Amino acid sequence: MKEAELVCAKCNVPLAPAKTTFVYLKHEFYADLPRCPVCGQVFVSEELTTGKMAEVETQLEDK
Ligand SMILES: [Zn+2]
Repeated sequence: MKEAELVCAKCNVPLAPAKTTFVYLKHEFYADLPRCPVCGQVFVSEELTTGKMAEVETQLEDK
């Protein structure tokens, strides 16, 4: 699955990656998530979230 091919279901426009802040385990992280440039809806798939969280946990363990 390519993120570039995601389309907003509401606006029917391609989603563009945008720096998004999210909080996990009381830490703040930035990630490029596909976001609709029209309505600002961020698309977060379970698969993506799981991958990002795994990344974050790895980063935390390294510190
Ligand atoms: Zn939209």
